Formats: sequence, C-alpha cells, structure tokens
Amino acid sequence: MTALSSHYDVVVVGARCAGAATAFLLARAGAKVLVVDRQARGSDTMSTHALMRAGVFQLQQWGLLPNIVAQGTPKIASTTFHYGADAVRVAIKPERGVEHLYAPRRTVLDAILVDAAEAAGADVRHGVVVPGLRFDSSGRVVGAWVNTGGEHPIAVSADLVIGADGRQSLVAKLAGAETYLESRSASACAYGYVEGLPDDGLHWYFERGAAAGTIPTNANQHCVFVGVPQDQFASTFRGDVARGFATVLGRCDRDLARAVADARLVGAVRGFPGARGFFRQPHGQGWALVGDAGYFKDPLTAHGMTDALRDAELLARAVLAGGAPAMAAYQEERDSLSLPLFEATDAVASFDWTLDTVKTLHTQLSSAMKIETARLSHLTLPSNQRPTPMENDMTPSDSPWTRTIAGRPAIGATAERVRQTSMRDVEMFTAMTGDRNPVHYDAELAQKSPFGALIVQGGVTTGLLNAVVAEDLPGPGTVFLETAWKFVKAVRVGETIHASVKVEQVREDKPICRIETIVRNAMGEPCVVGTATTYTMPLLAEGKAA
Ligand SMILES: Cc1cc2nc3c(=O)[nH]c(=O)nc-3n(C[C@H](O)[C@H](O)[C@H](O)COP(=O)(O)OP(=O)(O)OC[C@H]3O[C@@H](n4cnc5c(N)ncnc54)[C@H](O)[C@@H]3O)c2cc1C
Repeated sequence: MTALSSHYDVVVVGARCAGAATAFLLARAGAKVLVVDRQARGSDTMSTHALMRAGVFQLQQWGLLPNIVAQGTPKIASTTFHYGADAVRVAIKPERGVEHLYAPRRTVLDAILVDAAEAAGADVRHGVVVPGLRFDSSGRVVGAWVNTGGEHPIAVSADLVIGADGRQSLVAKLAGAETYLESRSASACAYGYVEGLPDDGLHWYFERGAAAGTIPTNANQHCVFVGVPQDQFASTFRGDVARGFATVLGRCDRDLARAVADARLVGAVRGFPGARGFFRQPHGQGWALVGDAGYFKDPLTAHGMTDALRDAELLARAVLAGGAPAMAAYQEERDSLSLPLFEATDAVASFDWTLDTVKTLHTQLSSAMKIETARLSHLTLPSNQRPTPMENDMTPSDSPWTRTIAGRPAIGATAERVRQTSMRDVEMFTAMTGDRNPVHYDAELAQKSPFGALIVQGGVTTGLLNAVVAEDLPGPGTVFLETAWKFVKAVRVGETIHASVKVEQVREDKPICRIETIVRNAMGEPCVVGTATTYTMPLLAEGKAA
C-alpha cells in the first residue's frame, strides 16, 4: 500500500453510493480526495437494490450507466403495483434519456462508483477505518485519524471531512451534527435472492399490514422482500427468518408465494429490524454529511441509494462552489427535495393505510420523484463547467464572477424548476399585493371567461423564474435588472408549471447575464416567454471563501 498524503482537499469516510459518488465528482473536478471504507472493496451490504429514475439519470449523466448494464444488470421496463387483487402496471416512459430502471447489486453499483472515483484520481482505500476526527483549537474539523492496520492511526489533514459513513455515522456523532427531524414510523423487512421468477419488471404488493416486492437484479436473480410494521419484527421473523418471509409473502399474494416457493432461493434470507428516519444537520466547520449519514428514511419505498447519488451531486457542487452560503444551499435543496419523499415514506412505513390510501401515497411519491428528476437534470455539471478548489485559488481576483457563489455560468447552460400551483399561491399573492381579481377567486365567473377556470396571478407564474435565477442559474445572489415577458397562456389553479432559463450572454466586466426565460404548463405549452437581464451579487468575501 502506498503511503497516504499528509493533506487532502477532502477526506471522504465511507465508499459506497454516497461516498464513492461524492469522491468521484470531486476528484473529477480536480480536487485531491482520499476516500476510505472499513469494508472490503466490492463487498455487499444490506439493500434491495431498486434505483429510481433520478438515480438512473445520475448514473447516466456521469457516464457510468453502460458499466452497470455491462455487468448484466437487467433492464426494468415496468413497475406493477398490486393493491390486494387490483394490479396497476406502469410502463417506464423514456424521459430525460432514461429508458429503463435498474436494480444493481451493491457489489456491482458500489464497485463501479469506487472504480470511477479512482479513475478520476481519488485515493481509494478499503479495509481502512476512521476512528476519529481531528479538530483545531476553535473546534473546526481539520482532518481525520486513519487506521490502515498499523500500530497507530495516521493523522491526515483536510480542508473538509465528509461523512458518507451511513446511518450510524461516526463523523456525524463526533462533529456534533444535530438531528432536527425524525420519522414517526419504521418498517421491518426480510429479503432474499431467488432464481427462476419471470422477468417482467418490478412488482410491489400491498395488503393491510404487509408489503412485498420482487426486484430483478444481477445474475438472473430477483431480490424478493417482505415488510411488516417494526413492532412485528420479532413475532414475524425471530427464530426462523425464512418461515416468516414465506408467511408474509403468502399474506401479500398467494401466487407470488407459490412462485417463490417453486423457485430456487440463493443464500439465506436476511432480516432488517427497521430504524427511524431522520434529517441531520449536514454541514459545519470543516465537515459535511452525505447519504444515509445525513438523511435516512425507511427502506420500504426504496429510495435511499437514489437520494445518496442525488446528494453526492448536490454536495460536490456546493464544495466546488465553496463558502458557507453554498453549503447552506446544499442543505436547503436536500431538505426541500427530500421532505415530500420522507413524509410519504413515513406514512407508507406506518402501515396505517388502506389499499386506497396507500395508492394516494404512491401518487405523492411519484410527484416528488418527478420534481427530483427535473431538478437534477439541470444540476448535473460537466467537470469543465465548475472551478475546482484549486482553480478557485487561481481565478484572477478582478474577475467580476470570482466572488459570486456559483461562479461564472457557462453560455448555453440551462436550469429548470417545476411546481404545482394552488389556491394557496393565489391567496398568498393577494396577501402580498391586494390583487383580488375575480378570475382568481370566482369559479363560476372564471368558467365563463376565456380562461375556462380559475387562474393564478401572473406573478405566481413568473415567481418561479425568480427562484430559478436565484437558486440555480446564474445562482445565489442573482436579481433581475430587466425582464421582457409575454404572457401567452394563462396558468390555471392546480396546474404544474416548468420554469426554465438558458444563459445566452455572460459579461466579462460585470456579473451580468442575458438569459432566455420560459414557463410552460404540464402539456409543454408556453405560458410566459421572453428574456431577462440578471445581476449576480458578489456575496463571497475576498480570498478563499470555503
Ligand atoms: C434492508 C434495506 C433495503 C434497502 N433497499 C433499498 C432499495 O431498494 N433502494 C434504495 O435506493 N435504497 C435501499 N436501501 C437504502 C440504501 O441501502 C441506503 O440508503 C444506502 O446504502 C446509503 O448509502 P450510503 O453510501 O449513504 O451509506 P452506506 O451504504 O451505509 O455506506 C456507508 C459505508 O461507510 C463505511 N463506514 C462507516 N463508518 C466508517 C468508518 N468509521 N471508517 C471507515 N468506513 C466507515 C461502511 O463500511 C459503509 O461501507 C435499503 C436499506 C436497507 C437497510
């Protein structure tokens, strides 16, 4: 083993989907990264493997999806939800370049991410434990102790230590990361691998008080899982996990139970007793958290890996942008994208639902996932569009973009936000402005008008463009200097709108951009079109901001 360097830009603790992905993105952008994991390279971990669309999208953007496919990971073309005897099949629509879903074994996914991190230049070490963090006299984290198997741990210094060390994160504990939201429920589950089930996509089964699923994964196997409320873990599985597994399968679907009994079980059935979900403060002086270390939710909705990949992108972006506001934006973005998923997951994991109400929860999850994918599709940053921490140091101090939080945007860069309008928007806009136009409130009158229904105020529609420029592109600190907008189609109350911007010109003498702006409805019809000129405040202090 080659010797460790004494200093890294970033040390990442944990080299699975969150840690390896973060290390990959940072190393690809030129940062000097050490990523360690106490487990063996290519080893397995608890998971039922289903990646949602946003996760597949990320892997594709990073150029890693072909490697996943090359490992024989089956394409998943549909998801079927079984609510008692009622089956609802949903075909995976090709969208944003994602044509199928995938459920790679962790021995495949984590290994591919680790290989990518190493190929990008990260120093990757397995079988290496971080037993502690290093602090300076002000309490700032300035590195980590790294145990490579020698007599004593080695001191490594770093500008940033990232805890990607899972739900029971040591980094979170030692850094004092506060937990500020916890779930009410948790489910327990058991799962195993089966050969010989038909290859027809994902299947999720719901019966009162029980759930199950079949997930096609590598080696022509299906991962088959069952879930029950956490307080039934012992009575269901203790003593004989396989028997409890078969019983719950039978409760969910007799045909499935028979098919699994006739198929070949490969290896043992594994049990997971459940754990409450949480949000932890994901950053502080010299440290940050990503993946389960910072945000965990019940595995019953199979979204932890997808979130880990998403947050790797969000965190890497914040680290490369540098500065406390960028880290605060990471937390804000993580939480706003995660909260709807977290709440719907908590409700599913409670098992306090009927077959009708669990359908509604799935609709909520589906909406939250659409927003997540839309958001990510505009976040993914090619490595050559962002300054590395080192390039930051080299940027001439007289560049007007040097002290903006997100840096100089690239010409042609795009960003989009999606949200569903509501009557509450109309009321809040009225509270702000006093606009009580009857076309927003009088349903009968609005129906007879050319709009045919209640519409939201124009400011509600264009307000989403304010969010895009201020949050995404050109980014934090941006205000409009001038707008030229045509309102070509009214937006009805309850309609989903997509607000997008594209950078057309970037001034070199001032942090000013000219952007193309458009708001479309869910049918893709333009509602507001035009252009705007923006100014991005240089909010960072002189010198290195991180
Ligand atoms: C039963 C079950 C089923 C699941 N099914 C799904 C699913 O179908 N789909 C989905 O998306 N998600 C699923 N999840 C959730 C998913 O597994 C997690 O969200 C995901 O693994 C989080 O990745 P991570 O990289 O943040 O953490 P982890 O995968 O937990 O990795 C953390 C790593 O950090 C290392 N580490 C910890 N401490 C140290 C230390 N001090 N020094 C060195 N290394 C350290 C550990 O060895 C580990 O390898 C499931 C979870 C469970 C429990």
